[in-house]
Amino acid sequence: MTGTESNDAALRPRSLTEYVGQAKLKDKLGVYLQAARGRGEALDHTLLFGPPGLGKTTLAHIIAYELGVNIRVTSGPAIEKPGDLAAILTNSLEEGDVLFIDEIHRLGRVAEEHLYPAMEDFKLDIVLGQGPAARTIELPLPRFTLVGATTRPGLITAPMRSRFGIIEHLEYYTAEEIAQNLLRDARLLGFDLDEAAALEIGGRSRGTMRIAKRLLRRVRDFTEVAGEPCISLERAHDALDKLGLDSAGLDDRDKKYLETLIHRFAGGPVGLDTLATAISEDALTLEDVYEPFLIQLGFIKRTPRGRVATAHAYDHLGLPPGNDLGF
Ligand code: ATP
Repeated sequence: MTGTESNDAALRPRSLTEYVGQAKLKDKLGVYLQAARGRGEALDHTLLFGPPGLGKTTLAHIIAYELGVNIRVTSGPAIEKPGDLAAILTNSLEEGDVLFIDEIHRLGRVAEEHLYPAMEDFKLDIVLGQGPAARTIELPLPRFTLVGATTRPGLITAPMRSRFGIIEHLEYYTAEEIAQNLLRDARLLGFDLDEAAALEIGGRSRGTMRIAKRLLRRVRDFTEVAGEPCISLERAHDALDKLGLDSAGLDDRDKKYLETLIHRFAGGPVGLDTLATAISEDALTLEDVYEPFLIQLGFIKRTPRGRVATAHAYDHLGLPPGNDLGF
């Protein structure tokens, strides 16, 4: 484990009360957890969706902690064949435990079909032998809670979706919520962080906790190397500028996206694949990582005819609305 990873583990909130933001989701989840605990039952299967880095994995651990059960962690791409699924479900899962499947939209098709009876009836059909001599045996499973996480809810099949009793969306964090969490981290790690500096980092973190924590580590580096005892607003400002983050938290890739859309495609509409090729980026990454934040900021729109830059985007880049410089 690296120093950063062990720090992360130490800072990971364990309970729902320590988990910052996501107020609506936490309210509801708190009720479901209390009800499940009261009945002594496993929590209903839960699907969490939202852009990467918003704390879905953390929330899955919190669910297990709050229920007082163990968590088993795996991911969609790791479960290709029914055998992979059988190994996970029959090894080490106990009554009430949480099985966390990250990137659940990437489960193998056949494995997914085997997961349906496991989720619904807590049984697994296993085929023994091959050809005419093959026979199916039914293996009972402990009642477990599947927590699935995905950045792409649209790729979850309808039969899969219908087997989740709880479906929740994670929102981007406000600068204040991020600052609150960074101040807590600084306290736990024993270094001084100015409140205004925490807010500045929070405002430039794309509403994402994981990014905020990374930026805090970098700003701390700049502060320490400058021989300063406390992370000040000025130092945070300066370091974030050096890291290439603008006032809205856009990095070089975001800016390249917007500039290409505006200058090269006259602000759109332009298809995702064309745009991805023009900026040498993978279309999936654009769709999952870059676009949700640009949409959240109101800088782009996804239309049936393609991506379009909004007046806000022109304004942010200091261009007159609808300007096409062409290159
Ligand atoms: P995801 O699964 O959504 O990609 P994650 O759960 O793996 O995200 P990160 O986003 O990597 O978590 O979070 C980075 C760190 O920030 C972790 O230590 C995590 O516990 C912490 N963190 C994330 N969300 C919150 C939150 N709402 N409150 C407090 N800490 C959080």
